[in-house]
Amino acid sequence: MVTDAQPRGSSDTIGWNFDNTYARLPDVLFKKVMPAPVRAPRVSVLNLPLADELGLDLRTLSEQAAAALFAGQEIPDGAEPIAQAYAGHQYGGFTMLGDGRAILLGEQRTPDGHRFDIQLKGSGPTAFSRSGDGRAALGPMLREYIISEAMHALGIPTTRSLAVVTTGEPVYRGSPLRGAVLTRVAASHLRVGTFQYLAARRDEANLRILADYTIERHYPELVDVPQKYGKFLQAVANRQAALIAKWQLVGFIHGVMNTDNVAISGETIDYGPCAFMDAYHLETVFSSIDHAGRYAYGNQPNIAQWNLARFAETLLPLLDTNENAAVEIAMAELNQFPATFEAYWLAGMRKKLGFQTDEAEDAELIRSFLDWMQATQADFTNTFRDLSTNDGLTGDSYRDEAFRVWHTRWQNRLGREGGPNTSTYTLMRMVNPFVIPRNHRVEEALSAAVDRDDLSVMHQLLAALTSPYEGNADFTMYRDAPPPSQCGYRTYCGT
Ligand code: AMP
Ligand code: MG
Repeated sequence: MVTDAQPRGSSDTIGWNFDNTYARLPDVLFKKVMPAPVRAPRVSVLNLPLADELGLDLRTLSEQAAAALFAGQEIPDGAEPIAQAYAGHQYGGFTMLGDGRAILLGEQRTPDGHRFDIQLKGSGPTAFSRSGDGRAALGPMLREYIISEAMHALGIPTTRSLAVVTTGEPVYRGSPLRGAVLTRVAASHLRVGTFQYLAARRDEANLRILADYTIERHYPELVDVPQKYGKFLQAVANRQAALIAKWQLVGFIHGVMNTDNVAISGETIDYGPCAFMDAYHLETVFSSIDHAGRYAYGNQPNIAQWNLARFAETLLPLLDTNENAAVEIAMAELNQFPATFEAYWLAGMRKKLGFQTDEAEDAELIRSFLDWMQATQADFTNTFRDLSTNDGLTGDSYRDEAFRVWHTRWQNRLGREGGPNTSTYTLMRMVNPFVIPRNHRVEEALSAAVDRDDLSVMHQLLAALTSPYEGNADFTMYRDAPPPSQCGYRTYCGT
């Protein structure tokens, strides 16, 4: 933080501009709550560029005032802290949930007219905490900060991270860990699970209010269209298809695609056991509890469709007064999903391979490349990046006969559109990242921050992740796949 001559001790004048539409919805959808007091808040990391986008002038705020603000100790003018109600299918089983360790301060209107939820995660118990303590540990909150910001820089719709502050208090997860609060910024926190919450209560009147509210907030072009709820389902499915395709194209594995973790806005939300894949394999799973591979890399599109089916069920009473007719509308939309997803995925893969035109055999050409990667345990990110330069294919693995055969087909394919030329490779580098947040690098940054209070490792990593497509030679170290000792990487929920 830049400390001016007179840093301000209160956040009231830094540019807050709240307009809390969700808090004006029927009160069955939330409970008022105040963040818990914490002993000694201290800033770990602040996202100044994001603050600027939000119209918040954090540069003039004292370190102490920023810590108090983002630990929920000082509630800014216009905020109306609430915990949101929702439900969700977790690993296929339905549960009533709600913000158990998150508090929505309100909706910030930005100078350019956008609206973002400002939410504190780890700020103490709420009416929905069940047996949980409402707290969060520093490691997982910094992890969310790193990965969400990396996703944003990769061009993938996501919630963002504005700040992480430590609380000066322990949280107990088997052993005592340093407590922390993450400030999450989202287009909204409306989830498939928000709709499921009202559907489970058979609260049709409020369901319609929620649907209308969501349409106005995220799909305003549908407000006046005929059959708007069917169109709403279609639009949500379309954004999910686009989002999951983007995940697949960078090897991102969410890890816990429960329906409460599906944002209606189409943003990636809830960074728990997520991770990026190193070696390409469809069955890649990192989450320690995902034994059946429900949320494996290759299964993400199927699960997205399953989650959308749960969403469609909630909308049935709105789709048609006749139940059979409603089911038919829902099924028609859901059945479109595989083709919609495939179209986004194929378009993205064509770009990754430098194609500017469509050929019928492209899908097969792409799949045979992926099959080769899977058979040889090729690194997903680096292989695509290696293809993206004139002289990138120097590694031993590229001498493999099967690869040579494929490479000739690929070059011929590019030849049919006049390539490959400099612009082919330039365009490829704009979609094939040089750096991703590799698990061992993220862990290294977290242990420096958490165990040694050294944030420099994380800041270095964040600098690399901020421009992932650039190919800055200073960041070459972040390209390396994990050492063999770290290949069995596991991620954990219940953070
Ligand atoms: P998640 O796995 O983060 O998507 O969380 C699933 C549900 O558990 C949500 O309703 C959370 O609010 C709740 N939850 C997770 N951790 C805690 C905690 N430490 N205290 C209370 N509730 C929690
Ligand atoms: Mg969640």
